[in-house]
Amino acid sequence: MAELSPALKQATPVVAARGEGVHIHDEDGRRYLDFTAGIGVTSTGHCHPKVVAAAQEQVATLIHGQYTTVMHRPLLRLTERLGEVLPEGLDRLFYVNSGSEAVEAALRLARQATGRQNAIVFLGSFHGRTMGAASLTTSGTKIRAGIGPLVPGVVVSPFPYAYRLGMSEEEATEFALRELDLQFATVTSPLDTAAVFVEPVLGEGGYVPAPDAFLQGLRERADRHGFLLVADEVQTGFGRTGTFWGHEPSGIRPDIVITAKGLASGFPLSAIAAPAAIMEKAWPGSQGGTYGGNAVACAAALATLDVIKEEGLVENAARMGDRLRRGLEKVAGSHPEIGDVRGRGLMLGNEFTAPDGTPDGATAQRAQQAAARHGLLLLTCGPAGNVVRMIPPLIVDGEQVDTALSLWETAVAEAVG
Ligand code: PMP
Repeated sequence: MAELSPALKQATPVVAARGEGVHIHDEDGRRYLDFTAGIGVTSTGHCHPKVVAAAQEQVATLIHGQYTTVMHRPLLRLTERLGEVLPEGLDRLFYVNSGSEAVEAALRLARQATGRQNAIVFLGSFHGRTMGAASLTTSGTKIRAGIGPLVPGVVVSPFPYAYRLGMSEEEATEFALRELDLQFATVTSPLDTAAVFVEPVLGEGGYVPAPDAFLQGLRERADRHGFLLVADEVQTGFGRTGTFWGHEPSGIRPDIVITAKGLASGFPLSAIAAPAAIMEKAWPGSQGGTYGGNAVACAAALATLDVIKEEGLVENAARMGDRLRRGLEKVAGSHPEIGDVRGRGLMLGNEFTAPDGTPDGATAQRAQQAAARHGLLLLTCGPAGNVVRMIPPLIVDGEQVDTALSLWETAVAEAVG
């Protein structure tokens, strides 16, 4: 009998039978509060009626057009609509299926557009699992072990992870920018540097927001040295952090934005956006893919944009994020095992630390498992799996946040007791 590959690691034993709103129902009829949202994907909730209706209608009309063969209306309409929410001037789009593929596309474009080879990434970043994206990923060696040699030309510089560095946010920002300047002086000349890739909130690496001054420092260096600033908004985009894009509070404009996850409420769709002057450097035929910009996924993305606007989901993410964060801080206040609570909007992390200051992955895993037993689905992330993260659908309401907090309190008490 065939079985799934052991390379698949599952965070909970749940076998989902159906999803509705912020809930997953398992095959035995048990209901779970889903604060994973399929790793930050189902922002409009599971099976939002408008997304379902749009997808159903499209399935019956045209499933697959294939954008290098025939164009289709959902892709053209989505491009127009994304133009309304993307940063000014990033008005050329290209579609693929996953975050990793979009990261690959951005790396290829950055090299083509600048004629330079090297990419700078920050320690702890996650950009994906395909070969190019994995080469940019340093959130954990499990992504890279045994698959090398990786794509050359990737330089890793420290991220301003204030809590783990034992610094204030200002000190950590200064430190990280100083180290970056050192890379330009010693490892990758600005003349060889094509791009810097940054997650506005470090995701798989531990839910650490990039301070505004850090992103501004990157923008300033990109302008000075002529390389591209690439914002990997795969996890932070589409309202997740309480603004439409994670980089928004910093006031900077990236040269390339990468989006996926929340874009199509669970259908596989991703995109990169850049100004025409950059995108036109990718010569025709150098990018593409059989399934990119699938018609059903595009219809779902259009409905997702409608729902986000009509239901005020960006504002809800900010409001519910505050409520969840205050509650998490209260739980952490009575449990010294949780050393830090942080994040933006509905992208919040609880970092577990042992009394000696080292990351405490074991307690974090116990808390995550206990939460699942009590009906709250959560995931971990961070350097040692020691950060329990909360990424509910953006439709979550106050009562559901409070229920999750009470389940979390029980789970933490069980994990540390
Ligand atoms: N970039 C970021 C910031 C991500 O969080 C992820 C997925 N967790 C990816 C890229 C890769 O996306 P995918 O799994 O769809 O390939």
